[in-house]
Amino acid sequence: MRIAIVGTGYVGLVTGTCLAELGHEVTCVDTDAAKILGLKQGVMPIYEPGLAELVAANAAAGRLAFTTELGQAMAGSGAIFIAVGTPARASDGQADLGFVHAAARQIAANATGFALVVTKSTVPVGTGDTIERIIATARPDADLVVVSNPEFLREGTAIADFLKPDRIVVGTEDARARAVMAEIYRPFEDICPVLMTGRRTAELIKYAANAFLATKITFINEMANLCEGVGADIGSVAIGMGLDHRIGRSFLNAGPGYGGSCFPKDTVALLRTAQDHGVTLRLVEDTIAVNDARKRAMARRVVSAAGGTVAGRTIAVLGLTFKPDTDDMREAPSVALIETLQRQGATIRAYDPAGMENAARMLDDVAFLNDPYTCVKDADAVVLMTEWAELTRLDLDRLGSRMRRPVFIDLRNVYAPALLERHGFAHAGIGHPPTA
Ligand code: NAD
Repeated sequence: MRIAIVGTGYVGLVTGTCLAELGHEVTCVDTDAAKILGLKQGVMPIYEPGLAELVAANAAAGRLAFTTELGQAMAGSGAIFIAVGTPARASDGQADLGFVHAAARQIAANATGFALVVTKSTVPVGTGDTIERIIATARPDADLVVVSNPEFLREGTAIADFLKPDRIVVGTEDARARAVMAEIYRPFEDICPVLMTGRRTAELIKYAANAFLATKITFINEMANLCEGVGADIGSVAIGMGLDHRIGRSFLNAGPGYGGSCFPKDTVALLRTAQDHGVTLRLVEDTIAVNDARKRAMARRVVSAAGGTVAGRTIAVLGLTFKPDTDDMREAPSVALIETLQRQGATIRAYDPAGMENAARMLDDVAFLNDPYTCVKDADAVVLMTEWAELTRLDLDRLGSRMRRPVFIDLRNVYAPALLERHGFAHAGIGHPPTA
């Protein structure tokens, strides 16, 4: 099938490339001409493992093309996927649908025959109805059916997540649309359930899933606090809980609080939707508040481990992105931590394998270094923020020997306290029993 993808970011580019890999003929559109020009030359706009190779293979096979011309991409397409950003609105945190509405208007203007408009972007319940209204107003003659098809991929493992998902959710009340969506996702028949629901239900599934995962992370973070109070070990608590199939092991890693381009904005957007409908979501409210407080608490933890003050001290931060294997810095907990430490007088040196270019646009007065050992030079403390593989196997002796004071704050619990002690580090972690 010919398919157009509107928005060639983390989701659009991966979706388009993977749909091409499944045999569809895909054209990805973006308003960012530099991005499209780069993609035509094989330059990836994002860091995502395996993506460059898959784009190159499908472009060479003639199944994947890039353009800034929506009309060209839509010609002959049976489905037009909307994968533009839905950032938090500055006024109240609800999803800003400006890009989605603009895409809908542009799609309406270029409509020719029957096609689906498939919303992949994460959008509040009822957005499908709005898109439908926008199209009907702009082009009453258009034969377009609006479908919800939320995306669940994770940055860093996006290709595997897309090609081997746990489930595919399709929301539509329209029989013709169901048939086209079934055709698009036929290659997944033996891979995962394709859940067909109403459109509003599909829109809500995405938010409910993200809010649940954010709550799970926040729950284990609170348990980590309790572990510190009672002398228990959060790592073992998480394993003991996670071995229960009803709970599951994933998303039980205590850390500095969730961040990234989805959980923070999606939890708040869900809350706003609920408030608009007069429904109270107390658990989600508390999850957001607890996570916000945790980000501030992490800075206090660093200050305390550094001896009660960071004024005039140098703090090295290893890992900046909100998780490993991505260059995405949106809502990364490292930003709040670094800015708080700077406000208290610290000098910050930082290293990240892929996120430094994006981080440099968000942070002032940070020295970005090219490897962890140069980063910690003359530092009074080092903070491990992101568990990139290369940061989980550091040469601790080499690290310690370069620092002014060997203080290790491990906000991902990668290194056992006893190991850090053996290598001469004073240390702080998350949810460890106090080591007297
Ligand atoms: P992104 O910012 O990386 O990409 C959005 C792209 O859309 C940009 O390249 C932008 O130039 C382009 N764009 C904006 N308006 C356009 C228009 N009218 N026509 C053509 N292109 C246009 O965003 P993202 O991270 O890929 O997220 C997209 C959506 O997917 C969001 O709703 C997000 O919540 C959701 N989502 C993201 C992830 C993730 O891990 N990033 C996972 C699941 C769902």
